[in-house]
Amino acid sequence: MKKIVVLGSTGSIGINTLDIIRRFPESFQVVGLAAGANHLLFTKQIKEFRPRVAAIFDKKAVAILAKKLKGLDTELLSGADGVIDVARHADADLVVSAIVGAAGLLPTLSAILTNKTVALANKETMVMAGEIVQREAKAHKVDILPIDSEHAAIHQLLHTPLHPPGRKQREDVKKIILTASGGPLLRYTSRMQKSVTCEEALAHPTWKMGPKISIDSATLINKGFEMIEARWLFDLPPEKIDVVIHPQSIIHSLIEFTDRSMIAQMGLPDMRIPIAYALFYPDRKPLPFKSLDLTKLAKLTFEPPDKKGFPLLQMAVDVLAAGGTLPAVLNAANEEAVGAFLQKKIQFPDIHKIVRKVLDAHLPIAAKKIEEVLMADRWARWETGKIIVRATHASPLH
Ligand code: MG
Repeated sequence: MKKIVVLGSTGSIGINTLDIIRRFPESFQVVGLAAGANHLLFTKQIKEFRPRVAAIFDKKAVAILAKKLKGLDTELLSGADGVIDVARHADADLVVSAIVGAAGLLPTLSAILTNKTVALANKETMVMAGEIVQREAKAHKVDILPIDSEHAAIHQLLHTPLHPPGRKQREDVKKIILTASGGPLLRYTSRMQKSVTCEEALAHPTWKMGPKISIDSATLINKGFEMIEARWLFDLPPEKIDVVIHPQSIIHSLIEFTDRSMIAQMGLPDMRIPIAYALFYPDRKPLPFKSLDLTKLAKLTFEPPDKKGFPLLQMAVDVLAAGGTLPAVLNAANEEAVGAFLQKKIQFPDIHKIVRKVLDAHLPIAAKKIEEVLMADRWARWETGKIIVRATHASPLH
């Protein structure tokens, strides 16, 4: 039986993870849960799964939890330190890292430093500090299993029976191709993007996800983040990582080998499939979900991404090549700008304009230590905040 910690249990990935765990009580035991602020759902989850420890990030919510969970022997913690303590709980074998945004970095790193296998949905961990995280994972002999559907696809393609671990498969790979649905604004020109509302940008056509990643899909920066994530997860140079728009979200990613043979991983867009893959790895378990019916697929289409119309994707590509603290700055500036957009303080195209300004103002350094990454993150949030305040109190951004 695997002993599991779920970080971000009340988010979209967390809920789907617990859905899988609930179906296989003989395979998994939940020993720890951590959530942000949704104490209503968190209370229900704690009552159902009876973890040994549970942490809520919002310190004010812990008193409410304690009241509702009186008599239960779950230890209750709060704040960033509480979440980290759950991540490194002595009983845990596998930590599902599904906190949204940069807040996921330190808990995930803590899990690695305490030798837990990590099932990674928090791509920010790799975007901000991929080099450091992989260095520590190697030093602690920790497996990082991707939950992100594209990376779960690549992971499966690299571990097919033809390529057992240990073969020189990296040299055989010409490139990997991450697919992108294109999001809800696929056919929108720059001009059309000016009047996009929050609701339109949140309406993802194929995947049901939380608000932050839905906006990131609409701007295409999510795919840029996934390129950076892939660079570190699979130890591939940036030039071997490509993106193609595939609106149907049936092919989740592809690998092209040096002999020009290409293999793809397919399935219906249901996050529970990559989640179960990571939870059960290296085994596969039958899942009671709908099969992909090939005869019902009208067509699968592919096109190049519009990097001019969606400049955040190009910014991510540039930042991936440049490295250092730039990816952490890109991530932080974007997170702050998306937050402002979700609060309707700025317009949709302001997201990329603001991020551009912050990137241009940054003096990057090599990110060899986690403190350097965290400092760049804090600087970028401060800088972004200033620009947002100026933009919302003065003239529109140019
Ligand atoms: Mg993805």
